[in-house]
Amino acid sequence: MTEAAHTSAIELPGTIWLASDIHLQESTPATAEAFLAWLNGAADAADHVLLPGDIFDAWVGDDVLQVAPEWLRNIVSGLAAAGQRTQLWLGHGNRDFMMGEQLAQACHARLLPAEALLKTAIGTVLLLHGDELCTDDLAYQQMRQVVRNPAWQADMMRRSLPERLQLAQQLREQSEAGKADKSMAIMDVNQGAVERTMQAHGVNRLIHGHTHRPDRHVFELDGAPAERWVLPDWDFDHQPHRGGWLTLDADGVAMHDLEAGA
Ligand code: MN
Repeated sequence: MTEAAHTSAIELPGTIWLASDIHLQESTPATAEAFLAWLNGAADAADHVLLPGDIFDAWVGDDVLQVAPEWLRNIVSGLAAAGQRTQLWLGHGNRDFMMGEQLAQACHARLLPAEALLKTAIGTVLLLHGDELCTDDLAYQQMRQVVRNPAWQADMMRRSLPERLQLAQQLREQSEAGKADKSMAIMDVNQGAVERTMQAHGVNRLIHGHTHRPDRHVFELDGAPAERWVLPDWDFDHQPHRGGWLTLDADGVAMHDLEAGA
């Protein structure tokens, strides 16, 4: 909600690690533990650690920090410890788009723009959460327009914290109920939207999360090879356990599976 700009370029020399869709919440302690252990290693290995969205399963406003339960205090202190050792960046997902400057400061992190043009060792890479590419899901896109409107968010923040927590719960239940009726194809990215977005930014590499379908897609864009990397989601509290990350350095992009210990 406090992105400096919708789109901006970020200079990221060196090694970058990325993870998204960890969906941290009170009811997933094993996922939190796995994430904090990974983050500790990431802070050692990477010059920049980027978390482009749905880090939290819900975030109703930074004033949560004043009444943070223990599980959340642990997460924030883990993020802050990492943020003091590496450059840490938090991005907005469709669950935690209300993350603001106060949280970023508490984590010694910076907020990513909604569309981040990463200036990396292998050229410019576009980083998004990914929900904006799911254009076949019209109901979702309509809802997204509402909740990403600064006026709607300001109105939300005038409500009490308990009221916001209740609203977030309702939205989550609606989203879960909606998903049951939607086909897998509707909830994936639209290839046309992918290509238009990449063309608009003049990039041939795109990284995003959101769809929980980790993969590397190679295709042709304006007669040249292009690739789209999809980050995995994390869950170490339900079977099958899953989680992983991407690394980006002068050798290129690589996917790593936490379960496989790769
Ligand atoms: Mn998402």
